[in-house]
Amino acid sequence: MQSKHVFIYTIGCQMNVYDSQQMTAFLASDGYTPTEDIDTADLIIANTCTIRAKAEQKAFSFLGRLATAKARRPGLIIAIGGCVAQQEGERILRRVPHVDIVFGTHAVSRLPDMVRQVAQRRCRIVDTTQVEGIDAHEFLPTIATPSPVSAFVTIMRGCDNYCTYCVVPHVRGREASRSASEIISEIEGLVAGGVREVTLLGQNVNSYGEKEGISDFPELLAQINAIDGLTRIRFTTSHPKDLSEPLMCAFRDLSKLCDHIHLPVQSGSDTILKGMNRQYTRSVYLDRVAQLRTYCPTIAITSDIIVGFPGEDEADFQATQSLIDAVGFDGLFVFMYSDRPNAAATRLPEKVAETVKRDRLQQVLSQQEAHTRRRHRALVGQTVTVLVEGRSKQDHAASGGVGARLPVQWMGRTDGNKIVNFAGVDEGSGERRNLTGSTVDVIIKKALAHSLWGEIAPRR
Ligand code: SF4
Repeated sequence: MQSKHVFIYTIGCQMNVYDSQQMTAFLASDGYTPTEDIDTADLIIANTCTIRAKAEQKAFSFLGRLATAKARRPGLIIAIGGCVAQQEGERILRRVPHVDIVFGTHAVSRLPDMVRQVAQRRCRIVDTTQVEGIDAHEFLPTIATPSPVSAFVTIMRGCDNYCTYCVVPHVRGREASRSASEIISEIEGLVAGGVREVTLLGQNVNSYGEKEGISDFPELLAQINAIDGLTRIRFTTSHPKDLSEPLMCAFRDLSKLCDHIHLPVQSGSDTILKGMNRQYTRSVYLDRVAQLRTYCPTIAITSDIIVGFPGEDEADFQATQSLIDAVGFDGLFVFMYSDRPNAAATRLPEKVAETVKRDRLQQVLSQQEAHTRRRHRALVGQTVTVLVEGRSKQDHAASGGVGARLPVQWMGRTDGNKIVNFAGVDEGSGERRNLTGSTVDVIIKKALAHSLWGEIAPRR
């Protein structure tokens, strides 16, 4: 089979990173290998996100830049997938005349067939069909991971929650879960290939299996915890309204489940939470946090905040700020609200001015910076266990980014998902060895704004 190259430009969340890996896996059977050099690609895919206006603009600006390449190389195939493709469908063919394929969020497994048709007939194809449920043929074991140590595994897709600012239920469809046996065998395959940590993905993993009446999420976690050779389990994202007691107990009981939860709160104001259709109140959220900390005192909690939701006044914003201080998050992702097509909040009056949104964003970012620094400083002098992902960025820069020598500085993550760069030799072997994929104890020496610095702890 003739070797061909595919370049995938991924925009957006971890779910999209996983989908891009799935595209790579499906296209491999047709002889496509991934390339980082766009000029040598036979197929270019934009895997898009529409959750915020900025992400959508980024996708169209990327596609626009491909016009010259297509004019120079008419055989080049250009495809757009993901949420923008699902939402805009054939309108994209009119807007971007050099695009050949528009494929929606449920069409990834059909991509190789579409590419073949375009190559043979020079036609243009749109496939945004959405299906109920999940078919086992829609997933393949991934062959590319962000690091050889860590991999994403989708356990469900879609969402039934209809938060008023969000387009996910419209572009990813209704909630559907994969069977536990498929998930387990995918993870076993990844572990056999050297993966030590999996992050389970879904828009709302807490309601895994509910609709299908298959095992619930804590049961699935227990099954994954029993897989030999797997070191760590993470998951994202959790909806606070569905955070059950058995799931909180799992943080206490399952040795491989990391002490970290991403629990998006979005706002600290009950009025705004109601307008967002989040289905919990500020006090319910704070109770869940307190319960989590009872079951797992060391748990790291991160969250998402949206500033400038329609109608958010100064008192609502202050309620968000006071919630941030009350929880003392380990990390926050902060977004400015933007209207999205099909999202109910787009029709709400009382839009907040852009300048006010920007100002609130900055206020929350600096407020959180203080919490992150405080949490990082509290770790100085402590010994933490780090799963090593590879060479640290600093080490990479020092070596000029090339060379096969073993790194002097390594990078990994704590159980609580904090990035640790560290130096040192593993004493057990008496010499420098490749630590990628190992867990090592590191003494934290320095707290930085976004990471920690340490040295390998001497063996006792
Ligand atoms: S829970 Fe809400 S924010 Fe999350 S994907 Fe579903 S609708 Fe969107």
